[in-house]
Amino acid sequence: MAQEKLVAVWNSEKCVQCGLCVGVCPVGAMRLTEKGIEIDVNKCTGCGICVKGCPVGALKLQKVIIEAKNGGAHEE
Ligand code: SF4
Ligand code: SF4
Repeated sequence: MAQEKLVAVWNSEKCVQCGLCVGVCPVGAMRLTEKGIEIDVNKCTGCGICVKGCPVGALKLQKVIIEAKNGGAHEE
């Protein structure tokens, strides 16, 4: 079953991999990996703290469809 949810979305072209967002997320939904920032859409509450905290505007809030089956998300 699909569910609509507001979550943080990461822009790889803008990100400078400073890691600030990982530290400010209150629910630990973000991780810095070798591929960049990974956001766990199941954990993310859409609070927007990371969006305000990113110094280069590489994060934004966006509605995504969560597929309950595999936890993956895609943009509308
Ligand atoms: S929007 Fe809030 S909960 Fe979601 S990744 Fe950013 S800081 Fe974490
Ligand atoms: S705060 Fe912004 S620039 Fe820094 S790692 Fe997170 S998304 Fe990238």
